[in-house]
Amino acid sequence: MLKVQHLSVNYRGVEALEDICLAVGAGELVGLIGPNGAGKSTLIKALLGLVRPQAGRILFEEKPLVQQRRRVAYVPQRSQIDWDYPVTAWNVVMMAHTAQTGWFRSYTARSRHMVKEAMERVGIWHLRDRQIGELSGGQQQRVFLARAIAQQADLFLFDEPFNAVDKKTEGVILDLFAELKAQAKTVLVCSHEWGQALHRYDRLLLLNQRLLADGDPQAVMTLDNIQRAYGENLSTHSHRTEVPFFC
Ligand code: ADP
Ligand code: MG
Repeated sequence: MLKVQHLSVNYRGVEALEDICLAVGAGELVGLIGPNGAGKSTLIKALLGLVRPQAGRILFEEKPLVQQRRRVAYVPQRSQIDWDYPVTAWNVVMMAHTAQTGWFRSYTARSRHMVKEAMERVGIWHLRDRQIGELSGGQQQRVFLARAIAQQADLFLFDEPFNAVDKKTEGVILDLFAELKAQAKTVLVCSHEWGQALHRYDRLLLLNQRLLADGDPQAVMTLDNIQRAYGENLSTHSHRTEVPFFC
């Protein structure tokens, strides 16, 4: 189980997360939702040890998560990746293993096999020698999904995985979620969307600097909650909502 206890993060005095407490169990598919700027990516980065919290503890199976980085697979938000970086699709997926063996060790046959299997699974094996920057948005997302699969982690963190992806990639992501659940993995998925699609999650955490709600989608997706989280920006978000979102 993932446990976050009284987590606060600020960037040079600007509060991004305030006193967040949450828990996600094995086999649970949890959606972390909230408007842009709510602190979703910051929470994921704190879990990865990429930002330093001002306060709080992050535990996985009762031990600090930072000491168990290999057990965490991360699919970053696409807008936060430098796509000009000269690296092939195969190299990105192989990073799942170089994190463990180091860049300068030769790849084992087992690593190669797992990378091939993961790339085949998401339909990108034929793109293995292409530069990551040359791929379509959906193909790029599938490269990172393959990396997460190849890593055989226990905790999976997805940051806005459905942003600007094609139907095929969406299907690949949904199949992967189902499989991870069946394998009793712990899965946390950030999303700024608000609508029927959120019923795909077992539980929703509604975030806007603070944790505003935590419960099953039916209980969290109330009109009161959307107003509390999205505030005066409600009208700019409402075009994305599908009726009935607050029943
Ligand atoms: P979300 O992922 O929900 O859109 P973020 O976690 O990216 O939100 O951002 C939360 C808040 O922290 C925002 O106000 C954002 O401007 C700020 N922020 C995020 N990253 C940084 C950073 N590296 N330096 C300063 N402020 C940041
Ligand atoms: Mg974000």
